Amino acid sequence: MDLIFEKSVPGKKLTILPECDVPEVEFDPAFCRSKKLNLPEVSETEISRHYSRLADRSHGVNDGFYPLGSCTMKYNPKVNEDAAGLDELTDIHPLQPVSSVQGWLEIFDTAEKYLREITGMDAVSFQPAAGAHGEFTGIQLIKAYHTANNDTKRNKIIVPDSAHGTNPASGSMCGYEVVSVPSSEEGGIDLEQLAAAVGDDTAGLMLTNPNTLGIFDRNILKITEIIHNAGGLCYYDGANLNAVMGIVRPGDMGFDVMHMNLHKTFSTPHGGGGPGSGPVACKDFLAGFLPGIRIGKTDAGKYDIEAAPDTIGSVGLFYGNALVVVKALSYLLTLGREGVPEAAKNAVLNANYMKAKLEKVYTVPYDKGCMHEFVISAVDIKKETGITALDIAKSLIDYGIHPPTIYFPLIVHEALMFEPTETETREELDKAVEVLLKIHEEAYSNPDKLHSAPHNAVIGRPDEVTAARKPVVRFDFGAEE
Ligand SMILES: *Cc1c(COP(=O)(O)O)cnc(C)c1O
Repeated sequence: MDLIFEKSVPGKKLTILPECDVPEVEFDPAFCRSKKLNLPEVSETEISRHYSRLADRSHGVNDGFYPLGSCTMKYNPKVNEDAAGLDELTDIHPLQPVSSVQGWLEIFDTAEKYLREITGMDAVSFQPAAGAHGEFTGIQLIKAYHTANNDTKRNKIIVPDSAHGTNPASGSMCGYEVVSVPSSEEGGIDLEQLAAAVGDDTAGLMLTNPNTLGIFDRNILKITEIIHNAGGLCYYDGANLNAVMGIVRPGDMGFDVMHMNLHKTFSTPHGGGGPGSGPVACKDFLAGFLPGIRIGKTDAGKYDIEAAPDTIGSVGLFYGNALVVVKALSYLLTLGREGVPEAAKNAVLNANYMKAKLEKVYTVPYDKGCMHEFVISAVDIKKETGITALDIAKSLIDYGIHPPTIYFPLIVHEALMFEPTETETREELDKAVEVLLKIHEEAYSNPDKLHSAPHNAVIGRPDEVTAARKPVVRFDFGAEE
């Protein structure tokens, strides 16, 4: 398929700007481009068809089942998009006087109140733009806390071996040495190994619970106590709150600081790198370090903004990706106090339903009840037929199903990690199970078909390593440039 630049024909114009009806101004040449901006010159029809074709070639929640584990690809109600598209919210500038953006500040204040309630934390900053960004910010709060206490020998962050890859990366980016602790046979943290790993050099722990195996660690209070007794702080990776929202709270599990991904749990379409939001929430004793703008009220009852007293500084622009916060608030108001835990329970029910049907033929390494996601392993199939997790994932594409997360968590060989989410119907789950059982059977009867899958997709098996390591994200205009 041609790129929009390759469709461009010089001089083909699509004039959408009205005639200029104000005096033209000469800019200081120092601020002007020296060369013409290379924009594609195409007709409106061509643009429209180009983007429709691109959309046809991708797979989103609106196209079919999308059980990408850890990523919560749930249906996002369109009403939330409508709310975020209101002119009153978009035709506005972040540098407007505070007196003229009182409604916006109320949105942030209300969203913060609900998220505090859901997380059991005391304060929230919306500035981080994604989960990993929230982790970085949260670990900076932990660092600022130890520094403020003159406790600077703490140079280690403990991360379990089932963690999302962003956790060790965030710890490391904040200058910490990352210590990995192994999981127990049940899939939780091994308490003895944890106790052996902590010391007066422990800055903190990063943990997600339920973890990436979909298992809720029942020892969570002991775990956070071990860290606190050693003088460390506990960070909760709340990227995916889909199993626990409205039911248990990280703040009650002993965590001091966390982030959540509004673009996973709280209804913003993601994938393809759209705008995200990874707000950081913390307990009172860390709130003084929060980044960006804090919202308060004046004596006259008006909203006002100021920086936190010991702020680590800004980690993003202004209020963060504000329209994502609108969608999250719209979602929370729609579901309400009863709907939020009900969504979580249905997410858990759907995952357990699928797992129970699949474990009849597939190997499930951690086979107790799961939370919102579960992991199966293709080790046995691979041994018997040569079919890998990748082959199974690619085969699913031919049935209009997005592959699950594969080869993660790292502690499960040939892992396939499914997260069906609460927004799938039983019929859809049954269909997916049927497809997976058929693929299992074909692994034995017709392995060549699976080795060469997908057969009905626009591309077969791209070189993913080169695509990730050497992405070509820029059009080469050649000499014209
Ligand atoms: C998605 C995810 C992250 C990272 O979030 P991004 O918004 O992609 O940066 C971190 N931890 C877990 C458990 C996740 O699922």
